Amino acid sequence: MPVISMKPILDAADSYCYGQGAFNVNSVSQIRAAIEIHELLHSPAIIQGAELANGFMGGRVDFKNSSLEDIRRGAKNIGDAVWKYGEYSKVPIALHLDHGSSLDVVKACIDGGYTSVMIDGSALGFEDNMELTREAVRFAHARGVSVEGELGILAGVEDHVHSGSSTYTNPISALEFVQKTGVDALAISYGTMHGPVKGKDVKLRKEVVIAIRELFRHSGVSASLVSHGSSTVPRYILEDLKNLGCSLSSAEGIPISEIKEAIRAGISKINVDTDIRLAVSRNLREFFSEGRRRSSASLGGVLGSLEEKKDQIDPRQFLSTVMDSVMTGMESDGDISDLNNEIGNGVKEILAQLIVEFGSAGRASLVRMKSLSEMASVY
Ligand SMILES: [Zn+2]
Repeated sequence: MPVISMKPILDAADSYCYGQGAFNVNSVSQIRAAIEIHELLHSPAIIQGAELANGFMGGRVDFKNSSLEDIRRGAKNIGDAVWKYGEYSKVPIALHLDHGSSLDVVKACIDGGYTSVMIDGSALGFEDNMELTREAVRFAHARGVSVEGELGILAGVEDHVHSGSSTYTNPISALEFVQKTGVDALAISYGTMHGPVKGKDVKLRKEVVIAIRELFRHSGVSASLVSHGSSTVPRYILEDLKNLGCSLSSAEGIPISEIKEAIRAGISKINVDTDIRLAVSRNLREFFSEGRRRSSASLGGVLGSLEEKKDQIDPRQFLSTVMDSVMTGMESDGDISDLNNEIGNGVKEILAQLIVEFGSAGRASLVRMKSLSEMASVY
């Protein structure tokens, strides 16, 4: 039962006015670590796989070229791991697809064990976005699976999502979109950005959030609001990376104080990917800075990639020689399990801080648990 749809988890965040983190994963070791740290802090959990993270975990090392079959295989690997570590967990856990681009991908992920999906039609015109989103809602809700849509355009680059400039969400359109599609959650654009380079001293337009929330309230709409591109890009990790020889150019995140104000204004779900990438790639570089790791036979390929790609912070770029372990969690020797611990520790370092800052620590028992079939009958 603890693996449930995202809706009850976000309803609790809305009712009790705290922020719920949604954290991106790219390997079984990250999934295990993410569940463990939520359990330690008694927080509800949203674990999410981006479309191309599914491709990667389906064995596609050049994940930008993922086929639907790669995504389907990866969704099953991610689903299996979340259900394995989460089914008997003491905290509620949702497995959510981040930035699904088509109905086929949505279906593949639900088949693989996802309990929630995002359909991102934000690059389409308003009517086409609504049509695509409505189709996804029809398919998902019949199975008790929750749906997140997106309206407005975020600047920045992340996996296949990229845009040079942003368009803030129009609150009146947001209301119409939610009423006509029936989405459970809506990603809005109000000043956050995808990727590690968000510009200096970002100020979020909280009034966009407040306006949408007020319109929803007056119209009896219960959809939750989602903040994408919300990584904080911790200074101390950038320093560590620099000291480890990683030549990262200008990187700036969203100040945590800004995110906490956005939560007070009405944001319920906060997506974080970049911070996890930074901490994990720092841990990988640190791991090999100790002399003895350099001679490990099973990890030679990882070390080679780290040395070759000095300006990379995406852990997927370094793990192509240990894909069995990435995809299934299999640990063929002690070196691989040490490596997985380092990856997991990077995840825990970031998540522990953000779970506490966002306010979801200790809230697990506030979620009113409903199985997928119970949710299907609610819709
Ligand atoms: Zn996003």
